[in-house]
Amino acid sequence: MAHGAAGLGDPLAPPPAPVGPPVPASALEAVAPRGVPGLVPVPPPVGVVDALPGEGTFLALSIDDGTSTEVVAAFARFAKDSGVRMTFFPNGRYASWQDNAPQLRSLIESGQVAMGNHTWSHPDLTTLGDLEVAEEIRRNQEFLATTFGVRDSPFLRPPFGAHDERTDRIAADLGHPTIAMWNGTLEDFRVLTPEELMAAARRWFTPQTIVVGHANHPAVTTVYEELLELIAERGLRTVTLADVWATPGQRIRGATAPGSVTTG
Ligand SMILES: [Zn+2]
Repeated sequence: MAHGAAGLGDPLAPPPAPVGPPVPASALEAVAPRGVPGLVPVPPPVGVVDALPGEGTFLALSIDDGTSTEVVAAFARFAKDSGVRMTFFPNGRYASWQDNAPQLRSLIESGQVAMGNHTWSHPDLTTLGDLEVAEEIRRNQEFLATTFGVRDSPFLRPPFGAHDERTDRIAADLGHPTIAMWNGTLEDFRVLTPEELMAAARRWFTPQTIVVGHANHPAVTTVYEELLELIAERGLRTVTLADVWATPGQRIRGATAPGSVTTG
């Protein structure tokens, strides 16, 4: 992808909202007991991210859409049973999220699962007018807040990865400055066999990768054990996007109180 790390250190990006003097990294580590050892979150950048920053052995699994209640349920159980950290990008129009909200809420409250905005109904935002783009984002924001208590995720993942300067600006205005793309994939945009899924995982589960997958088709639910083995074999540690990029408020809270700050 051409974006690379271009969005990571935009010199023109405004600083995060003023919250007093900068907090030293060591202090942040001390007050983020539920985060990931050895990982101190940095502020979410304004612009596109499509890989984890810097050197490390982290893997960010991000799971989109949620057309299937059964598949979302399987992901929630997998997370709970395995301790794997992951980020979901739900479309609120799918009942799967409401159906699995109790299980997901406890994972969100512990910080093991993070949430980002993937729009309400999964349109190509670049084909919509400004008001429609804003409505798609805002409606899903309300859904994330009412369903999961998530009110301050900086992340928007545009459906189909389709975005431009205009849609990015609207997203930023609505509280999502960080456009969360990916540089690895389970290749499950279409229906795959379990063997094809594992081939994709072997190709893409590498250090500092953001992998995109989908809670749509059941094949992925049959290979959880193999995915865990692959992660262990390669010495990777799973992180949420919020473990990596957090607002000052989130960092101080250690991602334990996702509902206590409102940014719009
Ligand atoms: Zn999607």
